[in-house]
Amino acid sequence: MKIHILLGPPGSGKGTQAKRLLGKFRLAHLSTGDILRDAVSKGTDLGLTVKTVMAEGKLVDDTTINRLVFERLENESSDVLFDGYPRTLQQAEALQAFMTEKSVRLGRVVHINVPHQALENRVIRRRVCTNSDCGAIYHLDNKPPKVSDVCDLCSSPLKHRSDDTSEAFRKRMEEFNATFLPLVAFYISSPGFVHFDGNQNSEDVFTALQPLFTETH
Ligand code: AMP
Repeated sequence: MKIHILLGPPGSGKGTQAKRLLGKFRLAHLSTGDILRDAVSKGTDLGLTVKTVMAEGKLVDDTTINRLVFERLENESSDVLFDGYPRTLQQAEALQAFMTEKSVRLGRVVHINVPHQALENRVIRRRVCTNSDCGAIYHLDNKPPKVSDVCDLCSSPLKHRSDDTSEAFRKRMEEFNATFLPLVAFYISSPGFVHFDGNQNSEDVFTALQPLFTETH
């Protein structure tokens, strides 16, 4: 098993591109944000614990997140694409220890770089499918659904994420700025690490990303 990681700020396109890459390569997608949102919408114990933290744009504690991820990895045999994890140095170190123990290799670590001014519009105008098995992502200007508030793929209603408000976005960016540089420093010397220009339209990003995953990393 190999692990690939997409790193980048909120709105950099990690989720959108991860979903596209899954359609092209045999990868399991592990989005901690999707898992947590699913738990919140189902009202599980985990969901109740993290609901407020998430709505405020803060990070869920490392112990909870690491436990969640490692439980998923225990049952996984295919290569995994992480989106939204690791997000702190502590998470990266815990993942490294887990991978060493289980002899799991690190593949690509893609830092998707988007200027901060472009991010807020992407996030505020984002709409997502409420069906967690679908999870399609739209943008009201750049990728609107064919029918307002309805998913093109599965016809479920779309929603505006509760943490995609201006206020929560600002908090998420604060969290990002406080944790991201140590994370990049942790991975920058890995052979699969690459800085990637995410400030292009979604199609062009996908076209440019694909070769990174066909090479032997
Ligand atoms: P995302 O969908 O990746 O933007 O994540 C949405 C929210 O879920 C974040 O703002 C955090 O509250 C929480 N979250 C997701 N992944 C993590 C993580 N790796 N560490 C801590 N909190 C996370």
